[in-house]
Amino acid sequence: MSLPTVKTTCPYCGVGCGIEATVEDPAAHRVTIKGDPDHPSNFGKLCSKGATLGDTVTLENRLLYPSVDGRRCDWDTALDHVAGRFRQIIAKHGPDAVAFYVSGQLLTEDYYVANKLMKGFIGSANIDTNSRLCMSSAVVGYKRAFGADTVPCSYADLELAELIVLVGSNAAWCHPIAFQRIRKAKDNNPNLKVVVVDPRRTASCDIADLHLPLKPGMDALLFNGLLCHLQRDGRIDKDYVANFTNGFAEALHQAETSAGSVAAVAAGCELDPADVGQFFAWFAGTERTVTVYSQGINQSSSGSDKCNAIINCHLASGRLGKPGMGPFSFTGQPNAMGGREVGGLANMLAAHMDLDNPAHVDRVGRFWHSERVADKPGLKAVEMFEAIGDGRVKAVWIMATNPVVSMPDADRVKQALQRCELVVVSDCIANTDTAQLAHVLLPATGWSEKDGTVTNLERRISRQRPLFAASGEARHDWWIISRVAQRMGFADAFAYQSSAEIFREHAALSAFENDSEHQLRDFDLSAFATIGQTEFDSLQPVQWPVTRERPQGSPQLFGDKQFFTADRKARFIPVAPQGPRNKVDADYPFTLNTGRLRDQWHTMTRTGLAAKLNAHRPEPFVEIHPADAERLQLKNRSLARIESRWGQMLARVEIGAGQRRGSLFVPMHWTGQVSSHGRMGALVNPVVDPYSGQPESKQTPVRISAWPAT
Ligand code: SF4
Repeated sequence: MSLPTVKTTCPYCGVGCGIEATVEDPAAHRVTIKGDPDHPSNFGKLCSKGATLGDTVTLENRLLYPSVDGRRCDWDTALDHVAGRFRQIIAKHGPDAVAFYVSGQLLTEDYYVANKLMKGFIGSANIDTNSRLCMSSAVVGYKRAFGADTVPCSYADLELAELIVLVGSNAAWCHPIAFQRIRKAKDNNPNLKVVVVDPRRTASCDIADLHLPLKPGMDALLFNGLLCHLQRDGRIDKDYVANFTNGFAEALHQAETSAGSVAAVAAGCELDPADVGQFFAWFAGTERTVTVYSQGINQSSSGSDKCNAIINCHLASGRLGKPGMGPFSFTGQPNAMGGREVGGLANMLAAHMDLDNPAHVDRVGRFWHSERVADKPGLKAVEMFEAIGDGRVKAVWIMATNPVVSMPDADRVKQALQRCELVVVSDCIANTDTAQLAHVLLPATGWSEKDGTVTNLERRISRQRPLFAASGEARHDWWIISRVAQRMGFADAFAYQSSAEIFREHAALSAFENDSEHQLRDFDLSAFATIGQTEFDSLQPVQWPVTRERPQGSPQLFGDKQFFTADRKARFIPVAPQGPRNKVDADYPFTLNTGRLRDQWHTMTRTGLAAKLNAHRPEPFVEIHPADAERLQLKNRSLARIESRWGQMLARVEIGAGQRRGSLFVPMHWTGQVSSHGRMGALVNPVVDPYSGQPESKQTPVRISAWPAT
């Protein structure tokens, strides 16, 4: 008898690989995992994390039952308690006294319902997501340049390019299957050049023709310099700039003030002028250029400007909207993009509409039949935990994320939650650092039990399908949220019975009042506005927009040179390069860089269950340049204490020449639950980009010393 095989999607990074899961023994949660050969993101390939998913679907460390104040209870009791306490606090202090902190791990349907409850019916926009920490600067960059949060490229462009620039992206470890596609493209095309722009020599440099180990935070200077070079070299696409863009002269003028020569750029970035000149010459001379950028750009106090400095170069050279070219942000999480679609950020409304646009607020209110829709942006992640700490927010519901580990200034986040009147945590994992602080714990279904959609970093919507029945008393996130909403008095608007019903409503909202103004909007799922259960169950991966005219989706955008601004033209943004907000000094002379490892995901709540993955790097470490280690008498594999003005941790010393002098690298994954050495998040400064609110997780001034002190 053949065993049932389910096509689903990997729950880790934003590459969004398709999986074929063969359920061997449902009772024992035994499953064989293979890459889906038909999925257009991975064509059957999986990285180490995806391939070991079968080891992580055990009941070990699962949250299986609801509890209130540490006592197990039934669902009715837990839901009544949460709804009652939220109602009390809102009645006494107003809707802005409550908040939701959600996650790029949620499915789009979960995200949609959480947003609808907070923004549409509670009437506050205090819902933000851990995706704020990963891609919110990229969102701002796209919105400013294109008038909408629209990623123009697809993976296929990587295979057609002749130059790929990876900026602040260790795709080899953080987006492994996308990187494998780049590697294969390079094997197949000897003309394809790869440039890596990163202070650290990472695994991605293994295929690089040129590595630019620039001074941390100086990316905008480099790309401003490139814009000036394109002008000097006569490589501006004058027709494109004149007819399809605005603001070129201002952006060029701003760039010329600090980046007018290769020498100035090389000096500011602390790079070899010959290498800078080589990069500029390759970019200038290669039409098919894709610039991939990720957390090294986004996680910065000037991340939005860095994104626009990159996009400016593509607009100036007309390298956009054609095969094999464009600016291409890589998001970190499996459904960061799905969250963006439904307004998962505190400053956005569902279906890519804006809270600060009264017409959008009105439209969403009429669609949801609510007169309470929030009409001003809510608290972004860092602000939200500050407001919890100082008592402005008195109740928070944290869904599928572990901010006590992952947020910057994580010790203060922990203290804020310890002081908060009501902390509700819904998660599939028990006993996370955050769950330990909860008054109410609500068990959510895990990856192998969930049913809905996610959208990957190239806008491709794929299904996550259940392999097993829900464990214990776990329920889907959308079910938990909607049952609380019903108890808060919003019964009709949250009477959902299935994720298909929610997906249909989400698609219908994108098509609601599809008039000429609406046509300017990028996010359109009108082809799914009446989708039925059977169609939803068999939904094939497809890239939005998916309209009635284009039911096969839209792999590439802006081929028609029509943007989503009022005059349909793209915008150059003048960028004044800035370094990190907090500078190194005599007390804290090193720049701390943080990031992911190849074989772990976020705070290790799942990948930590796979013995094979733990073998890669078994404990927290700090990477340091050999000369710095020698000066400080730090031995390889010894222990060191790292301290910032915000916190401290211990880590094993790893001496590596790939590190810049004066920089340290610490991975983000270890939690207080699996390591007594402390959490990386406690070190990170909480300064944010003024436009995106994204924290500067890549550059915190720190010091390092041997531990114990001799
Ligand atoms: Fe999963 Fe990302 Fe690996 Fe693909 S590349 S298998 S989506 S972790």
